[in-house]
Amino acid sequence: MVFQLNGKTALITGSTGGIGEAIADFLYQQGAQTILTGRNQNKLKDISDRLGDNCLTITSDLSSQEGIEQLVSQLKERNIEIDILVNNAGITSDNLALRMKNDEWQKVIDLNLTSCFFLAKLLLKNMMKKRWGRIINISSVVAASGNPGQTNYCAAKAGLIGMSKSLAQEVATRNITVNCVAPGFIPTKINEDLSNDVKEHFLKGIPLQRAGTTEEVAACVGFLSSQEAAYVTGQTLHVNGGLYMV
Ligand code: NAD
Repeated sequence: MVFQLNGKTALITGSTGGIGEAIADFLYQQGAQTILTGRNQNKLKDISDRLGDNCLTITSDLSSQEGIEQLVSQLKERNIEIDILVNNAGITSDNLALRMKNDEWQKVIDLNLTSCFFLAKLLLKNMMKKRWGRIINISSVVAASGNPGQTNYCAAKAGLIGMSKSLAQEVATRNITVNCVAPGFIPTKINEDLSNDVKEHFLKGIPLQRAGTTEEVAACVGFLSSQEAAYVTGQTLHVNGGLYMV
């Protein structure tokens, strides 16, 4: 155990994905009660069975306001109070700007940005009451660098950074910190369809000469969740092997 998260309850959205599962794993190993959310009930159960008893699962789709509110009601029904929120669920829907359809733009903004704000807003009340909280939003290297074909995704991920800085200033007096973790190239389902050429192009630009791992991202989230990170707020921790030095 690196950080003491005993007595804290952490909610990780998109826990069934590559980075989400690694974050859930890491926070669980630090002693946090871990609430796994995602759309795939069977996968959630598998992860929860593997982790152990101090873990609960809630199936939820966060693409709509209704889905977000349902998740929060389920937490209330089970008397679960969240201390650490990790907004990790995310999608891509790539297209060149001139070809991008309204739906491709909107669904990425809705999940990758809007759902993070509303979930944070709803869960903040308890953190304010407890005068302690951690909100960690998973952004991306492309929020800073931009990426052709990803105007929607980059806008959402950059929006998360601005949103986090503003929220951090609003809630700082209550010992609540709000930060982003911005991964670089981490092989998971989200980028498995990239062509080998694009993957090689990314890899060539990485000074550390390799892709990152989900565990390396999770460790950064673990730090920002901890008491040790109490004086870090409104920041973005880039985890990209030097791909883009901000
Ligand atoms: P992933 O595809 O493995 O995981 C994405 C997760 O989001 C999955 O659990 C999926 O079920 C969930 N999700 C998708 N739509 C949802 C919805 N409507 N409601 C609820 N959950 C939904 O990808 P990943 O790489 O693990 O991505 C995790 C986060 O990291 C994302 O926000 C992604 O944008 C970000 N990120 C990833 C990389 C990378 O290289 N893998 C780089 C930068 C940022």
